[in-house]
Amino acid sequence: MTSNAPSTKDIILDEVAQTLGDQALETVKPGEVKEASSETRVDEVPACITQRAIPVNLRNGPADIIVGLNNECPRWVPGSVIKWAAWRQGFKTEADADHAAAQLNIAASQWNNANIGVTFEWVPLATDATFVLCNGGAMGGVLASAFFPNANDLNYLYVYTTAFRPQFRSNMWQVFVHELGHVLGLRHEFAIEGLPERGIGPEGRGAVVLGVRDEKSVMNYRNDLPEIQPSDIQSTTEFYALREDDQGNPPMVGMTPVGDYTPR
Ligand SMILES: [Zn+2]
Repeated sequence: MTSNAPSTKDIILDEVAQTLGDQALETVKPGEVKEASSETRVDEVPACITQRAIPVNLRNGPADIIVGLNNECPRWVPGSVIKWAAWRQGFKTEADADHAAAQLNIAASQWNNANIGVTFEWVPLATDATFVLCNGGAMGGVLASAFFPNANDLNYLYVYTTAFRPQFRSNMWQVFVHELGHVLGLRHEFAIEGLPERGIGPEGRGAVVLGVRDEKSVMNYRNDLPEIQPSDIQSTTEFYALREDDQGNPPMVGMTPVGDYTPR
């Protein structure tokens, strides 16, 4: 990358390193930690938001995220490899950082094993990643938040303090399979109709249905933590199998065109 102008990502990471020091960008590297998943169930409803937050390790430095949807169904270019890194700083303990990274890796492996048409890859450095896992600090009862496919060259997947509480900690990967669903372009199962029994209204913002509805969808809020259902795999595979027509028009989901983004 000597002949090209630096990317936004390079600029942000350079500024952070200069303002806060290189240690602010230290990562948990793939292969450093290994943890098994567990099967505990919980009674609380996991919640996630797409609200603006700043990674704890960048709180005193420059940081910017954009999360949004326009009149399209954003997805990654079929066949893409979506690379992610995990920041070590900002977590309460090193063990928390290791744990969160290992749990995200479990979730990413589950999506990878589902063969939906794009894959996730854990990389050592944020500069090579499309998104980084980071601690978002305290956010009420919110467990995690993510982003939808977009053209930004750096995105954040946040895990919040609540997700480290005992009832969620060992099942954090289940929170992450839901968040990675957002990263793949999936909206909440209830985005169109809302969840009146939980006081949640429709999210709207151009949500469209692809495939069959499933109350157990990984993208729904339930009393059990999310798990990828066969219907999720089927619909997501279908989504990523859509192709432009002979005239080069983008594929449509209902009346909404699909927007393809290349992971940067
Ligand atoms: Zn969500």
